[in-house]
Amino acid sequence: MKVADTTNAQEAAMLRKHGKYADTGAMQAREALKIVVVGGSLAGLMTGISLARQGHHVTLLERADRIRPSGASLLVREDDLRAILGPEQARAAVRMAGPVDARAHGEVPATWQGLYEGLCQVAEGLPTMNLHHNTRAVEVGQEGDRAWARADDGETYTGDLLVGADGYRSLVRGSVAPDRPDAEFAGYVLWLGVATESDLDYTGPWPGGLDIRDSGDNLLLGYPLASPEGSTEPGERRLGWGWYDNSRNHVLRETGAVRGNVTHHTLRGHDVDQHVLADLVREAGLRWPHPWRAAIEDCLSRTDFLGTPINEYVPDRLRNGRMVILGDAAHVPTPMTGRGFATSLDDAAALARHMADATAATLPDTLASYESERLAPAQELVLSGQMFSRSFGRP
Ligand SMILES: Cc1cc2nc3c(=O)[nH]c(=O)nc-3n(C[C@H](O)[C@H](O)[C@H](O)COP(=O)(O)OP(=O)(O)OC[C@H]3O[C@@H](n4cnc5c(N)ncnc54)[C@H](O)[C@@H]3O)c2cc1C
Repeated sequence: MKVADTTNAQEAAMLRKHGKYADTGAMQAREALKIVVVGGSLAGLMTGISLARQGHHVTLLERADRIRPSGASLLVREDDLRAILGPEQARAAVRMAGPVDARAHGEVPATWQGLYEGLCQVAEGLPTMNLHHNTRAVEVGQEGDRAWARADDGETYTGDLLVGADGYRSLVRGSVAPDRPDAEFAGYVLWLGVATESDLDYTGPWPGGLDIRDSGDNLLLGYPLASPEGSTEPGERRLGWGWYDNSRNHVLRETGAVRGNVTHHTLRGHDVDQHVLADLVREAGLRWPHPWRAAIEDCLSRTDFLGTPINEYVPDRLRNGRMVILGDAAHVPTPMTGRGFATSLDDAAALARHMADATAATLPDTLASYESERLAPAQELVLSGQMFSRSFGRP
């Protein structure tokens, strides 16, 4: 089998060093399998890249557009980031302002946007990987030794293996764990926004890193960000914030964002009515110090923020026949764990490792060994955040 050499020597050395991703020099999958990945965010892209580098033919279906602006940030192990993206793109992904305590633990804050862009570019450079954006899987299934996804473009994509990397409301999970397909609402919302320095009525000192504030029964995480272009010049910097709130679950229910115990969608600023907005502005003024108060007030005044209902899912299983789930499709922890991304990365690396020797005939056994390695860490991740959720969440 011919396998294209897709990485440079430096990157290959990095991959070898970490032993996590296939060394392109020795990249010899015994048999090139056809793999369909549903969901092309961080977990889907990392998995698709790892498998395509082994020479497998990967088709990735992502319902959203290729361009996805986001102000979110994640803590990432620096070595892992370089191993996946290569040094240059890893540097581009780490675009935060100011020193950060986390650096001491080998972790760096990276922008979601930078990571996503870097991964898309790596994926687009792989000859055995096909990305289909704006393509939603509407049904998945399996028959005999084939698994398939029917998409809203009218096509049915069939493979030896179907990977569900389709997030906390996973469609694929419904086929892998039909007895318990849904994540459960954890009883609180995370309001999220990003403000630009030049829009703020604030001239005081700029925060140097992640700032965590506690106010009675609410919690705020604030973090400095560079501009979307990576500038840390005064005036161009940004502030990201996340406000954990357990007192407005009625807003989630009235808007249909949460029904019963299940989340149906995230709230956008314009979904929130004027009374709730005014209440949030008033409360931000009482609860949070500057510059976070200024950043929150700015986002609220522009209705440019999100209300993400927080969910949890402890998995009982990760595979069924020729289907497997990973990332947030497999385990949904509260973001308070701060480990969703790192665990998704470990999932992708483990699947690639197990797949290195897989053939079409041995795939069910391969997935069984993947599950026996990853089920316990997936469960542990979610359970580790449940103490917080149980004390913070409300009906
Ligand atoms: C508010 C918030 C803050 C977080 N903060 C942190 C943090 O600080 N640190 C950390 O490590 N982790 C954090 N996480 C978790 C982290 O972002 C995820 O664990 C990680 O990015 C892996 O996500 P994923 O790719 O599995 O899922 P997602 O990012 O949810 O991606 C799923 C993808 O599947 C697509 N999709 C869904 N259904 C379909 C379909 N039917 N057909 C096609 N495509 C579909 C979606 O459009 C999406 O792109 C946070 C999560 C949230 C919600």
